[in-house]
Amino acid sequence: MSTDSASRYRDFAASLLAHEGALIEPLAPTGLEAMLPETLQQTLHAPELVRLGFAADLPPEAQRVSLESDWLERFGALLGERGRCLQAVLHVIAPTPSNPERLLEHALVLQNAIYRLTQVTPAWTRCLVLIFRYTAIADEQRTGLIPFGLNLASGSALDPHVEALVQAALDPARPTPGHLPPGTALPPDWPALQLQTAVTRALPARVRTHVHLFLSGMQRRLERDLSRVHDYYTGLRQEAWQRLHRQHTDSARERLRLDAAAREYQAKVADLRQKYALRVTVDLEQTLLLTTPVQRFELLIKRRKGERRVTLDWHPVVRRLEPPPCAWSYSADTLRVVCDDALHLVSPEGHAPCTSCSKNYCRACQPRRCPKCAAT
Ligand SMILES: [Zn+2]
Ligand SMILES: [Zn+2]
Repeated sequence: MSTDSASRYRDFAASLLAHEGALIEPLAPTGLEAMLPETLQQTLHAPELVRLGFAADLPPEAQRVSLESDWLERFGALLGERGRCLQAVLHVIAPTPSNPERLLEHALVLQNAIYRLTQVTPAWTRCLVLIFRYTAIADEQRTGLIPFGLNLASGSALDPHVEALVQAALDPARPTPGHLPPGTALPPDWPALQLQTAVTRALPARVRTHVHLFLSGMQRRLERDLSRVHDYYTGLRQEAWQRLHRQHTDSARERLRLDAAAREYQAKVADLRQKYALRVTVDLEQTLLLTTPVQRFELLIKRRKGERRVTLDWHPVVRRLEPPPCAWSYSADTLRVVCDDALHLVSPEGHAPCTSCSKNYCRACQPRRCPKCAAT
């Protein structure tokens, strides 16, 4: 753990324990001493007085609290279901951007259509931040967090801004929540099915990005083991063949040996397949709903004879425009294709050629199958 994350972890533990009635005394370096009330001693399975250290250097007589220690689970038991949902209003100033056209050029590239910025107005929105924990298990195990942010007004993915938004929501110096200006229009909650579809489409690419290094490491280890097993049995076979060839031996017995070696080889390969079979599970850990002022960019998208209005929000917390929405996979980059039928904005993958007829089609319009192939 870095010094920075160690002291963040220490601060978290200190405020959690203090909230539960413990008396806390900071200890150098990056540690704390806590006097626990009786209920807390029971929940944490700890004595009345505990000394905890969070960095590599421990205070004298302190227990180490690291990601590997069981203290993580003990704090988890203490938290229970609390801390899984947070709603906050970010009272930040959202100034009018001085050069909106320029901002837009950096935030949106349309591959096959043009757009016109019609207006920029101050507005409010709600950002839903879902934090998922994935666990990938093969011969080794990896876990990690995948944040997915969604602007409920525009449908844009907010992944690049999630961390800053969450920091802003948790900032202790944040002004106490006041009331929203009267008459403030906020986007409604998404229906459960729409949200579920969004998450189902958004997660696979995000999980792939996170497990990419783990997967390539695993692939290397699998190939190494396969070639080791292969070399070993190739050696055995060659020896048996040579003996057969020289006819110094009982040929029926050598054939049996050869068969047995072949079977053993297949079994070893099957074992390896099982050892390296990858299982990934993803669980929702935390949900945050952040209400924030924005500057709303209204665009007119033009493709052939069609026109469609879309909005993109400029977020004052990051002083950036959000990525354009992708009606298919909620990707968070800047390149979009506009479909002919509904003028959906989709990422190029969402308008990729059909694998059998090679014709491009919009996955947001036709989520199940290519319309051309479906017609035949
Ligand atoms: Zn097709
Ligand atoms: Zn479409």
